[in-house]
Amino acid sequence: MNVSTDGLVAWNEPTLVISIDLELAWGSFDHAYGPELLAMARWTHDHGAPALLEQLTQNGLSATWAVVGALMLDGLPDLGRLEPFSTPGGRDWFSFVPPGATERTAPEWFAASFVRRLAEATPKQEVGFHGFSHVILGDPRVTARRARQELEMCAELARKLSLESPSFVFPRNSVGHLDALRAAGMGSYRGPDALLFPLRRRSLRSAWSMAADVLGLRPVLVQPRIEAGLVNIPGSLMVRYAAGWRKYIPDSTRLGRLRSGLKLIRRRGGIFHVWLHPENLFFEHPRLERVLADFHAEAGDLAASSKIRVLTMGQIAREALARAPAPARAA
Ligand SMILES: [Zn+2]
Repeated sequence: MNVSTDGLVAWNEPTLVISIDLELAWGSFDHAYGPELLAMARWTHDHGAPALLEQLTQNGLSATWAVVGALMLDGLPDLGRLEPFSTPGGRDWFSFVPPGATERTAPEWFAASFVRRLAEATPKQEVGFHGFSHVILGDPRVTARRARQELEMCAELARKLSLESPSFVFPRNSVGHLDALRAAGMGSYRGPDALLFPLRRRSLRSAWSMAADVLGLRPVLVQPRIEAGLVNIPGSLMVRYAAGWRKYIPDSTRLGRLRSGLKLIRRRGGIFHVWLHPENLFFEHPRLERVLADFHAEAGDLAASSKIRVLTMGQIAREALARAPAPARAA
């Protein structure tokens, strides 16, 4: 790794990037399996994900969809070669998926038909990965071998779907095994959300995110960072679900935060990286869907009048590498 040529790439154009983690039941079965999770996953398959795609395409917006690899399929592949891994509760990772399930019998786990729609959408949407089975790569229990296998399964799907240097989102944003990510041919990843000032402790970071949501604080703009050929594009703002105490956050505060990000990039330049889970639109539906509809309409208008650019993570990564000094590209 050539450390001296790695680093931030200056990015002054007002740019919006939207990344969407599509996971259905894979996203939280390991700690919250139950009827509510299955209902949320089913709703996302039938309504949440298609509605979000419709909002984006109607407004002329392209987004990066980081999809759990297994859900791109119509049933589990042969898992014989995978090193076994268990949930914190001690069950085999794949044991929650009903045996012999397909998209027709278990749409809570599989969405091959939606991924086909996604790949054919206009304007073009980027199909990337959110792990193969949502194993938490930053979990110290995940061995280098299991991480490599997880990412090779993604690489195999990428070849099948002709995805070049796909973008990647770490399950739970828990970064780990970057070498394996690189070896699997991924081009970029979404790093943890940028903060106004460094907060090491997890409790402080979550207190900050609560305050940011409640007070509607202005999001932080980001710049791409080249890390030995991989491009890290950190998040600016996660649109969190309207459940628990967060259902008391007024929709106008949520929309206000999103709009302040658009204002900020127009005034200062830089990247506003919004990310979300379609699954989270389920709670208090249709509140979040409406907030996002307003945000996407505004972003679409600004993009149509060339006041901002709306790019996918993959497009940002390619431009960032092209702008970097030659040795960084070759690293
Ligand atoms: Zn996830």
